[in-house]
Amino acid sequence: MKVCVVGSGGREHALAHVLARSAEVVVTPGNAGIPGSVPTPPEEVDADLFVIGPEAPLVDGLADRLRAAGRLVFGPGADGARLEGSKAWMKELLVEAGVPTARHGSFTRAEDALEYLDSMVPPFVVKTDGLAAGKGVLVTESLTEAHNAVGDYLSGQAFGEAGRTVVIEEGLTGPELSVLAVCDGQRAVPLAPAQDFKRLSDGDEGPNTGGMGAYSPVPVVDDALLAEVMDRFVDPTLAALRRRGIDYRGVLYAGLMLTPDGPRMLEYNVRFGDPECQVVVPRMTSDLAVLLAQAASGAIASTPTFTEDHMVTVVCASEGYPSSPRTGDRIEGIDEAASLPGVTVFCAGVGGADGGGLVTAGGRVLDVCGTGPTLAEARSRAYEAVSRISWPGMQHRGDIAEAAAS
Ligand code: AMP
Repeated sequence: MKVCVVGSGGREHALAHVLARSAEVVVTPGNAGIPGSVPTPPEEVDADLFVIGPEAPLVDGLADRLRAAGRLVFGPGADGARLEGSKAWMKELLVEAGVPTARHGSFTRAEDALEYLDSMVPPFVVKTDGLAAGKGVLVTESLTEAHNAVGDYLSGQAFGEAGRTVVIEEGLTGPELSVLAVCDGQRAVPLAPAQDFKRLSDGDEGPNTGGMGAYSPVPVVDDALLAEVMDRFVDPTLAALRRRGIDYRGVLYAGLMLTPDGPRMLEYNVRFGDPECQVVVPRMTSDLAVLLAQAASGAIASTPTFTEDHMVTVVCASEGYPSSPRTGDRIEGIDEAASLPGVTVFCAGVGGADGGGLVTAGGRVLDVCGTGPTLAEARSRAYEAVSRISWPGMQHRGDIAEAAAS
């Protein structure tokens, strides 16, 4: 089987790496650190299966265009991708599906939004309706800050068109949990749970980022909790999609909060999480290419299985990330790091250097992964590998998986 992975980050590198265990793989556009990268647009690639990594091309209808050309595609069409492309639409679907979620309102007029906000108690939560690269959510104790955000979002000043509708939600509290399920339109099977770290700095300080690290499995997420998430959240969502005539074939990534009143859905993503993917799919002992091809053809016939080994990834980011990442710095030490036992390095924002080697070409640059029989061992391997890698201004967290490993 020949598989074409669409995307250019660490998630796509991890998918390509694992798919290559049993398939021939090309990645478009990929990057200078991902083997099999080709500049050819996906529409012009000949492959038996297309796996679309990021949300933007899904929301933009790439899966529909490829399917219209007779291709087998893993990834929802633009109709299903609205779950991530419009938070207002997603919330409407959750209510229809009877999925427990935060109380909310969606607004296009500032007066209405502010009036609703004034009826809430802190923390106040203001979200852009549309895609904002993970930055469109404000959680604050300050009503003034929430008011200001409504103005900045609705005026288009902060997030352009993505902010012209805002969703205001009841603030929830509790630990967060992500569950990724692979769907074939009718049925969903869960993947191993992962925990990610969104803040830039140790101790969950600093600004929100796309994700600075992750680990899998997650000790607190046992089979019973996973089954509850499938029964009460994922399956009813898939059924509600079907009732709307949406044949959802791809990843449903459920972001939940375990509140004192029980689990509540915060958001759906319509693709593998990045960097969660980097610690989940390499742990698969069953065949990823077969599972994704089955899901894409509407007939999952197997349950994915995972090794008991643990995996930790530490994201190495460029100076200035997330606000203004500096690019073009030469990366040293990748080969040495990757040659350590139990270590894999996935390339996210990298480019080719003149005369060979790699330079930084984005905010999140490398995902340095350690695998081991315990979380502590996986973690120490990942950090040993990180210590071999350098470029000017490289940033990484020092506490990924620390609490869970101790
Ligand atoms: P979202 O993109 O909707 O998942 O939001 C990003 C992050 O904002 C989540 O991972 C939570 O940490 C936080 N968040 C979102 N919605 C709420 C809420 N209703 N209450 C408290 N925190 C929230």
